Amino acid sequence: MDVEKIIEERKSWLGWKNIAPLRQALAELPRIEEVEVTLGAWVTLSSPHAGEEERRRIEHAARMMKPWRKGPFDLFGIRIDSEWRSNLKYDLLRPYLDLEGKNVADVGCNNGYYMFRMLEFSPSFILGVDPSPLFFTQFELVNRYIGSRKLRYEMLGIEHMPGFADMFDTVLCLGVLYHRSDPIAALKSLKRSLKRGGELILDTFMIEGDEPICLTPESTYSKISNVHFVPTVVALENWCKKAGFERFEVLETVKTEPHEQRKTEWMDGQSLEDFLDPENSELTVEGYPAPKRVYIRAYRK
Ligand code: SAH
Repeated sequence: MDVEKIIEERKSWLGWKNIAPLRQALAELPRIEEVEVTLGAWVTLSSPHAGEEERRRIEHAARMMKPWRKGPFDLFGIRIDSEWRSNLKYDLLRPYLDLEGKNVADVGCNNGYYMFRMLEFSPSFILGVDPSPLFFTQFELVNRYIGSRKLRYEMLGIEHMPGFADMFDTVLCLGVLYHRSDPIAALKSLKRSLKRGGELILDTFMIEGDEPICLTPESTYSKISNVHFVPTVVALENWCKKAGFERFEVLETVKTEPHEQRKTEWMDGQSLEDFLDPENSELTVEGYPAPKRVYIRAYRK
């Protein structure tokens, strides 16, 4: 697969009429010297050179780039309180991460929140892929000031990962698999990008049960429109085996709580509280089991 060609073609996406003004705002942002980066729950940037005027311009650009789904970020005192408190997912995964000197990919990286957080491990490099020009632009806003040379972001999808054959020690694929209509093909695609023996860390929605079966939502699931399959853990394990993984391991299972995903001024529209049955929080508005996630690790054979 010639990913360089696809990368080249997709540069035109930055000219879309909803994206071009954001790119313009990004290009006009001030340079700021002596940026200090603190990688805590809030990815925090500070500098003695970020004054009122710099902050005003950065905040204006950041607001143009709404919705901020993943975060939070504190850019020189501008608190971008994203819809998701992605720090909770990161904290859950952190004890399982061992990335020093490793080649890492984050597939479906959104604005790169986890990429920034993972710099704490001093990996060799981190490739993030996500086909959204909006989230790419948010990433560039933050990385303009972090300026890490270890990070590379391409507007590609999970389906392009075979283009990075045998490259990674660790591939993260979080919150993406249920959006794929062919999850086994998606897992194969991730596998090809791993070195032999490399690890996949993945999370997806799950249903309870001991049978190797899936929920197939009629239209939406928890008001999310493109959720195709919600497997039991055994079904997920079978998919992984079919795709060429071994040593399948469940790291955690977690119910999505409203404190993790909620409305903030940095997103417009609805969030989790609108997606559950108001009479019974065990069910989604569609009457399916409420969102629960399983985090797994598996290794390329
Ligand atoms: N990994 C993050 C974000 C999950 S949201 C987390 O777990 O918090 C799902 C992301 O998948 C979105 O950012 C969306 O833009 C991205 N996405 C959409 N199509 C994709 C594809 N074909 N391949 C990879 N990611 C995709």
